[in-house]
Amino acid sequence: MSFTVHGLAVSRGIAIGRAVIVASSRIDVAHYFVKPDQVEAEIQRLRRARNGVVEEIEKVQASLDELGSQDAHPELSALLDVHLMLLQDEQLTSGVKHWITERHYNAEWALTTQLEVIARQFDEMEDPYLRERKADLEQVVERMLRMMRGVASPVAAPLPPADEGEPNGTLFDPSVDVPLVLIAHDLSPADMLQFKQSVFAGFVTDVGGKTSHTAIVARSMDIPAVVGARSASHLINQDDWVIIDGDAGVVIVDPSPILMAEYGFKQRQGEVERERLSRLKNTPAVTLDGQKIELLANIEQPEDAAAALKAGAVGVGLFRTEFLFMGRNGKLPDEEEQYAAYRRAVEGMQGLPVTIRTVDVGADKPLDRTPVRAGEDHLNPALGLRAIRWSLADPAMFLAQLRAILRAAALGPINLLVPMLAHASEIRQTLALVDKARAQLDALGVVHGPVRLGAMIEVPAAALTIPLFLRHFDFLSIGTNDLIQYTLAIDRADEAVAHLYDPVHPAVLHLVANTIAQARAQGKGVSVCGEMAGDVGMTRLLLGLGLRSFSMHPTQILAVKQQILRCDTSKLAAWAQSVLAAEDPAALMAD
Ligand code: PEP
Ligand code: MG
Repeated sequence: MSFTVHGLAVSRGIAIGRAVIVASSRIDVAHYFVKPDQVEAEIQRLRRARNGVVEEIEKVQASLDELGSQDAHPELSALLDVHLMLLQDEQLTSGVKHWITERHYNAEWALTTQLEVIARQFDEMEDPYLRERKADLEQVVERMLRMMRGVASPVAAPLPPADEGEPNGTLFDPSVDVPLVLIAHDLSPADMLQFKQSVFAGFVTDVGGKTSHTAIVARSMDIPAVVGARSASHLINQDDWVIIDGDAGVVIVDPSPILMAEYGFKQRQGEVERERLSRLKNTPAVTLDGQKIELLANIEQPEDAAAALKAGAVGVGLFRTEFLFMGRNGKLPDEEEQYAAYRRAVEGMQGLPVTIRTVDVGADKPLDRTPVRAGEDHLNPALGLRAIRWSLADPAMFLAQLRAILRAAALGPINLLVPMLAHASEIRQTLALVDKARAQLDALGVVHGPVRLGAMIEVPAAALTIPLFLRHFDFLSIGTNDLIQYTLAIDRADEAVAHLYDPVHPAVLHLVANTIAQARAQGKGVSVCGEMAGDVGMTRLLLGLGLRSFSMHPTQILAVKQQILRCDTSKLAAWAQSVLAAEDPAALMAD
């Protein structure tokens, strides 16, 4: 029966597909399709893995027998019997075969999909003994996955790491045309990068806020997504038909044919609208009263430069370099690897400026799934060792990044942007390290180029001491995602307080307005690179507050440009001041 789950709308558009429920712990399992003529080979691979695990268990049993210790360890012996039984279980084997044969999932994906199906049945069992067998099943599946890791698929490789160039051609088999949507309890930003080249047409998570980094990456991928949908991953079953309405933040499960038709129509309308907007690509972003507006792109990977150019961006306003550092089990990219990445971004932008932000890990952007560095598992990570604090705590790592950026600056225009500064001492230390990095390169005779230095304004303490920042930096970039989080004391990634995360709260607007006004008064560049910049509902207000430079996901640029073309800034300034003075600015925003 059809039902609806409500969450937060984070990435626009409609996706219609069958649900793939992925347990958080299994997200790094490879997901790809195999070709129809490779199905049999994939089943064989699975069979070999199962037989291998059976052999392993039988060996342990035999050694117990030899040692005569079976009686001494009756529990272990019984457990091994249970595992052997589960491995032969008809529901597991036939279910896994079904996903490979009917859906052409790769063996690992098929196995974890069927695990989810059976695990749910265990969850619903009354008998606590049987309920506990779920853990055994998980162990058995884990052993098979491990076995398969040693036996690579003969037909396709898992997702290549982001820096290995072209996506694997076997990832998507057009002969399997059932669209799939991913349903998970949670996805980390690093998981999202894996999905960038994946088979999913949309996703839903139980947790997360509108400006959580998972949501941000979804927007950059331009796939419909809903986060903070509470218990969606429990309510939705494997293979259910699902409609994700990324504009309304709604997930419709098992929709009626009428709803399917209605949303199918909306989906096509969205495509038509995108096509219409694409005609604005080469139109200069100039307001009705002749103000030129700079529209820049936010990127997560050097390869995103192509999307930035395609959307008509005049540069990159924010390259979130932390994505180069995540999901590597603590092995951070060295200077050479970083230089290669920055070089790709600079070359990709073909002479347009690239703003490279130094690494901003921590809070909802952990380096890895499990904490590998001190401070990562702290109770309150958003207030802990993140962003510039993390960099200053490890000067050798930071210097390597700075050298890589300075070297790339010899190849094209680069702005170097520093996240989350709040203290004069942090500013001094950062600038001293930039000088030191330059001196190190000079000493080695390595070529480097000039950079413009910028500070992110994303902590209220910074927004309240703008003259300090203007003394030391060439430009400012307002990170509204964090500025809102820290001003209102609302965790941006926590759906439980998402209703209080308010971009037009008078306190937030005052800090934004003040930053823009003071930077402009001194003739220094100022832009907004938080999600506010890409929100068409905020364009008029930001223009009215004097903002002339916006940085956002490439996918949002054309819609914001359309707004800009319709605006007259001379008329917006007075209105923006009245919004600033209002008790309830949101009420005036609709005027
Ligand atoms: C911000 O805080 O607004 C910002 C752009 O940085 P990030 O979202 O990466 O924290
Ligand atoms: Mg930030």
